[in-house]
Amino acid sequence: MNAHPDYRHISNWAISLSEQPDYQGLTYRFLHLLEELPWISKAVAYEVYGERNLKTGEARCTSEQLVRRFPLDFTEQPQEEEIDLLNEFNSSADLKPSKPNAAGLFTRIVAPVRELGGPDRALLLKGEFDAAALALLADMIALYRNLVALHDSKERDPLTKLPNRQSFDARMLQVCEYFRMHPIQDRCQEKSSWIAMLDIDNFKRINDTYGHLYGDEVLLVFSQAMEKHFRYNDFLFRFGGEEFVVILNLVNQADAEATFERFRAAIERHRFPISGPVTVSIGLTHIDHLTLPIHLLDRADKALYQAKAGGRNKLVAYRNLDPAVGRVGTEPEVF
Ligand code: GH3
Ligand code: MG
Ligand code: MG
Repeated sequence: MNAHPDYRHISNWAISLSEQPDYQGLTYRFLHLLEELPWISKAVAYEVYGERNLKTGEARCTSEQLVRRFPLDFTEQPQEEEIDLLNEFNSSADLKPSKPNAAGLFTRIVAPVRELGGPDRALLLKGEFDAAALALLADMIALYRNLVALHDSKERDPLTKLPNRQSFDARMLQVCEYFRMHPIQDRCQEKSSWIAMLDIDNFKRINDTYGHLYGDEVLLVFSQAMEKHFRYNDFLFRFGGEEFVVILNLVNQADAEATFERFRAAIERHRFPISGPVTVSIGLTHIDHLTLPIHLLDRADKALYQAKAGGRNKLVAYRNLDPAVGRVGTEPEVF
């Protein structure tokens, strides 16, 4: 492609971006289009989770404001490059080019992508950019941002802004594919991924007693507690009604169980206005490289069922499931 794309190119871009079925497809396609431009050598997309995993009142410094590289990030610490990105992201609403080099060209651009329906996002672009390139990029990013907003309105829950069930299916496939390529041999020692279903206890009673609006408030506060408790590289979803799903990444078995037990206890302790205590039941299972996503979800659901049957306000791991209480057809976990 020549350095200055013509009208035909630009309309083809718009068509191919607008035909993508979801946010992930859109972002893959957008990064691909950017990298086809001769003056871009690298394009990376991030989601920015400034508030995750910080306790209320705790000061935030830039290195603690965390970013997730698109599409799947299993790195534990932000990289140097990401910390730089955050410094520029925080201070800027528009494209932020680096200082020009000796030839008068910019070699690095941070482009914030902010809209109300989801997390803040940013693009990091490397290459050699002149003023015409910056103007074209600004327009392309504006188009991308509008399409992201449309996808968020479809793929995220409007109340909590968490990804919804539809986004879960795509994410789960991606995580399972990752573990098919990188099988875990020992989940007690190795860090791997876990899936948990969380269901608020007796939620119908909260609605019936205090009204649907107050029920919504509880759902919102609950989702905010999730965002504070889990790390930026975990994936959170509102699955439907008062059910949530967490894909917990980068922890071994003992830490996964301890993390969910701490969350259960934190919800039990949390002071919800008006209603008094709210509790949650949790079913947890390991994401292995052999089991299909739908069966993993089923295992988490069976563990959740047992947590409910055992009196609620409990965490049950699928590996500890009692077949006498669980539903029929409970097969052992092998990995
Ligand atoms: P359990 O402990 O067994 O989970 O009991 P529960 O009452 O939480 O479960 P049940 O499935 O009986 O009721 C769930 C309720 O959640 C019923 C439904 O009206 C309510 N609900 C579903 N979606 C929403 C929502 O978006 N807002 C509000 N306020 N309520 C909702
Ligand atoms: Mg339920
Ligand atoms: Mg419930």
